[in-house]
Amino acid sequence: MPDRTTVSLVGSTGSIGTQAIDVIEAEPDRYEVTALGAARSVQLLARQAHRLRPARVALADPSGAAELARLVPPGTEVLAGDGALEAISVDADVVLNAVVGFAGLPVTLAALRAGRRLALANKESLIAGGPVVQAARATPGAEIVPVDSEHCAVHQCLRCILDESGIGSLPNSPLSPLRRVVLTASGGPFRGRSRAELAEVTVADALAHPTWSMGPKITIDSSTLMNKGLEVIEAHELFGVGYDDIDVVVHPQSVVHSMVETSDGATIAQLSMPDMRLPIGYALAYPGRLSTPFGAIEWSGLSRLEFEQPDREAFPCLDLAYRAGRDGGSAPACLNGANEVAVDAFLQGRIRWVDIPDVIAEALDVHVPTAPGTVADVLDADRSGRDLALAAVGRR
Ligand code: MG
Repeated sequence: MPDRTTVSLVGSTGSIGTQAIDVIEAEPDRYEVTALGAARSVQLLARQAHRLRPARVALADPSGAAELARLVPPGTEVLAGDGALEAISVDADVVLNAVVGFAGLPVTLAALRAGRRLALANKESLIAGGPVVQAARATPGAEIVPVDSEHCAVHQCLRCILDESGIGSLPNSPLSPLRRVVLTASGGPFRGRSRAELAEVTVADALAHPTWSMGPKITIDSSTLMNKGLEVIEAHELFGVGYDDIDVVVHPQSVVHSMVETSDGATIAQLSMPDMRLPIGYALAYPGRLSTPFGAIEWSGLSRLEFEQPDREAFPCLDLAYRAGRDGGSAPACLNGANEVAVDAFLQGRIRWVDIPDVIAEALDVHVPTAPGTVADVLDADRSGRDLALAAVGRR
């Protein structure tokens, strides 16, 4: 058997992590999982260790370490506490970062600084850590292949018009073959509702996403369009495209995953049924392709593809993200931290859904953007966003 690609799954017990295991189990001759890591789901992590037999498992929360050590197969090395997830992010051919939220930043940095291919599902690390992550990306061998479905689509489309080396740094010149990137948004569960109609929506309403099944944080972000706003910043960071050249269009069927428009007016799009296993497999197999089709389109069952403009008044989070992205420096980290606090407060019933953008706007209004040069600077900006948002939640 030829050498298999080694994979470290960091955040293996969440929605993306469990789907990544599906992909790997579909092509067992091609991939070998050498490490698994999770925040705190001891039981599921141990079951995964029995299925995949990695050499190492890591748990961010040290309180579960003893239980995990009892449950994993004999000979499995157990790491826990500070630095455990980073430790398993440095020596596989591909590191999947599927950690939820800003907590994924150390994993992104560890993988890139070790010159690994990073299959990036954790958009927050790139958004908040922008300048610091870009520096780590310059490490020889390091590359990011996006798992976020829209960015995976843009990545595939850009390969049609640029050679591979141009994907991360688009030429900012009149000769650029790219005119703009168009990110698609499902519109979430509240598409078509006015701001007034949104005043009383519940947590259960917001968690009922029409096309994608995802974890709670991203599902709420999807309902506010903050997910799309964060993805605009993510596209800027990943591909070097200016904010004026990134547009968002609502596409309720979630079949067109995003598009690029070329300088001569052509649009190139990537289509598939909404199934995250395709972008996960794309990032694992890059620059090749999986042999297993996930999300292939059955055209007889697909009657229409619709597109409409986002309602920027009912969903102000989209423009808050453009604003933070254009402000640059520490502003995206502040936005992201404030959003995580606001989403938490909504899930706990402390604020209404319509308060989420107001809380974030109040944080951005007070935050003075700086130019983060180190991880400590990024942590400061994140903390500033969180503290300002907590104060704004307290005033509600
Ligand atoms: Mg996405």
